[in-house]
Parts: sequence; C-alpha cells; structure tokens
Amino acid sequence: MQQTWSRHLRYTLAGLAGTTLAGLYFGYPVYGLAAGLGAYLLWTLYQTRRLVQWLADPNTADEAPQSLGIWGVLFEKLHRLNLNYLQTRDRLHARIDRIQESTNAMRDGVIMTDARGALEWWNGSAEHLLGFRRSTDQGQYIYNLIRTPAFKSYFDAKNYREPLELHSPAKPHIHLQVQISLFGEDDRLIVAKDISRLHQLEQMRRDFVSNVSHEMRTPLTVISGYLETLVDNADDLPPKWRRAINTMATQSFRMETLITDLILLSRIETGEQAVNDAPTDVDSLVRQVCQDAQVLSGENQHDITFEASSHQRLNGDENQLRSAFSNLIFNAVKYTPAQGKIIVCWFSNSDGGHLSVKDTGAGIDQVHIPRLTERFYRADPSRHKDTGGTGLGLAIVKHVLINHDGNLEIRSQLGEGSEFICHFPAERLVTELAE
Ligand code: ADP
Repeated sequence: MQQTWSRHLRYTLAGLAGTTLAGLYFGYPVYGLAAGLGAYLLWTLYQTRRLVQWLADPNTADEAPQSLGIWGVLFEKLHRLNLNYLQTRDRLHARIDRIQESTNAMRDGVIMTDARGALEWWNGSAEHLLGFRRSTDQGQYIYNLIRTPAFKSYFDAKNYREPLELHSPAKPHIHLQVQISLFGEDDRLIVAKDISRLHQLEQMRRDFVSNVSHEMRTPLTVISGYLETLVDNADDLPPKWRRAINTMATQSFRMETLITDLILLSRIETGEQAVNDAPTDVDSLVRQVCQDAQVLSGENQHDITFEASSHQRLNGDENQLRSAFSNLIFNAVKYTPAQGKIIVCWFSNSDGGHLSVKDTGAGIDQVHIPRLTERFYRADPSRHKDTGGTGLGLAIVKHVLINHDGNLEIRSQLGEGSEFICHFPAERLVTELAE
C-alpha cells in the first residue's frame, strides 16, 4: 500500500508539473497548474462518487468497480475485505443455525435469560413444555411466565446444586425438573426436563407402600390383640407354649412399629399429612422428648442433658418435629453404651435455628454417612435386632426437614461418637414479643 501511495504521489506531482510546464510554454504557468489541480479534483470527485454508489449497492460483493492507480487498488482492497466479512458472517450464521437445530432436536427445554431473568432465547421443546411464545414472550421475566413461588425463590437464591421439581405452567399434567446454571455475568441457562413418567412411577411406589401398610395394619392389630391377651394370661398356658407366645408378641409389636413408621413416612413424604405451620416451642418439646429418652434408657442410665441457648420458636408442624427429634434422640440412646453421655442443644445464629444431638456412642464409619437417610439402610446390620429399630428413623427425619426447608448434617467418626444436626432456615424462626 505504501508503494502504491508513493507511485500515486509521484504521478500526481509529475502530472501537475506537466500542466505547469505546458502553461509556461504558453506564458501562463499558474493557469497550467490550476488546470492540473482542477483535473485532479474532478477525477477524485468522480472516483468518490463511484465509491459511494458501489457501497450503497446491495450487490457490493459481486464485483468491484475497475479503476486506475490508487483508486483501483482501494476498490480491490475494499472488495476483498467485504468478501472476507461476508464469508465469516455466513460461517457464524451456519454455526448458530446448527446449534439451534441441535438444541431444537433436544427433548429438554433449554432457556437463556439475563441476570434479571429476562428471556433472551429458548428452544422448541421449551415452547412445548413451558408454553413460551416467540411472538409475545421475548424479553419477559421468566418468573412472570412460571408463576410458582418456589421457582422465583429458586431462581433468586442462586444455589443451584439441587434441581427443582414443578408442574408445567402450560400443561399441569407435565411434571418438570428444572436445573439452572450460571454463565457470563450472572446470566442463566435453564434446562427443563420432562420427568412425568418418573414422577408417576415414584407416585405408584409411594401409593403401593402406603396401601400395603394400611392393609396390613388391621389384621396385625387383631393378631397383636389376641397375643397380648394370651401373654396376660400366660400362667394358664402350658409352659411349652409360653416362650413361643412371648416371641410372637415381641415380633408382632416390632411389625406394628414398622408399619406405623412406614405409614408415617409415606404421609410425610407424599404431603398427605399437611404441614401445619405454627410457632413451636422447641425448648419444651425437646425437654419432653429427653424425658422419654431417659425412660427408654432405663437401667442403662445415660447422662442426657439439654441446653437451649435460643428462646426463639420454630415455625413448623409440632407433630412432625416431635417425630424427627425423637428419632434422633432415641437413636443416640440406642447406639450409645450404658452410662454414655448425650448432649442435646437448641441454638440459633444468623444462618437459622439448629438442633444438635451429640453422643459418645460407637460412631459411624464415613462410608455409611451419605446413605444413612435411605430407607432400611443400616451402618451395622448385625445390630438392628438388639436396638429394635425399624431402619426408617433417619428417612423420617430427612423428610420432616425437607418439609421445613431444612437439612440434616451428620458428623461422626468410628469410635468417637456422633453428632446429628438439624438446620432450619432463619425465615422459620419466630421471636416472641414480651407481653
Ligand atoms: P434404625 O431403626 O436402624 O435405628 P435409623 O434410620 O434411625 O434406623 O438409623 C439408620 C442407621 O444409622 C442405624 O441403623 C445406625 O446404624 C445408624 N445410626 C443412627 N443413629 C446413630 C447414632 N446415634 N450412633 C451410631 N449410629 C447411628
């Protein structure tokens, strides 16, 4: 380009020198120079007009105007730059089309929003699953279209480790699992998966367990009733029957406890037992449970202490909370050797309310901890006959805590005792005003 420019300068100067010399020949060198400059100006204006017309032409890419000297080179260079730009643009369009085609082929709904939740883009499945419409919903806030309060809280909380399950706003029979990921500057990528089939199967499983438990309860109550009468009148029985009757009574009592726990768990889990939120006095509730635990401990004489440093009440369902706390405190009694120490604490801080149950028992191996809240999971299966547990206690605790927006933390080392902590969010704490 530098060379072209020098040549252009040389030719222009030579041209002007030529017209000036011609003027000199006729005795008017200044007119000669003026005529040369005028011709140069006209040529430049003519080329500028061609450039403007060419750039305004929508078919610029087809061909560059032909010209001499620096203008020819300029046209050629611009033409090449334009071609490069068009090729890059076509390549990017093709790539975007391909990404859109592949996301449209996905069965999951994919949605992109900005940090405030305004819809930027979504695929075809999102239209089908969530009922978004391209003509009206572009730029709308997603939580105005998915109006479930749980979705708004999930979106705002920015804690997307666990997915959220909800019904489709457009087709309530569709059950969705929504997972959000953050990208860019707090923008959100939302994936909505249709889990209706899975949800239906899970519902069938729960209904089956619940129905079987209910159906078994009545005949078992009859059997237990007769066995109880027989045990009460054991003296009238021949000695060889006494042991058998006693064992049958113990086992039917175990089965009754198991069925009661199964029914309770399925009620808590299915929401059949509504969560009756009311400010609950955790202090006196746990104090009662600790007294029952002392009775359960009996001759084992565990040292059970309760410390309540918080006097705030907990907004929750008293019956469900009693089940959860008793399971944890009774477990501490069951899994701690005689005269062991059990410390129960109720305290609150900026994170919320916390109930901790700490014991000096056998402790739990780390490998078992993630699975302890599964139904019938036992860290030491050989011990469950001694403890008389149903294997459902911690599953009940987990579901009660889910119903109260809380979670269970388990800290334990084999041989060093265990600590089970129920964490409740700060929003559930109620400060009683002094009267
Ligand atoms: P279970 O009826 O068997 O006690 P849970 O669901 O209450 O059923 O507890 C599951 C398992 O967790 C128990 O079988 C036991 O192995 C372990 N576990 C629960 N609490 C404690 C504890 N305080 N110390 C040691 N192990 C415990």
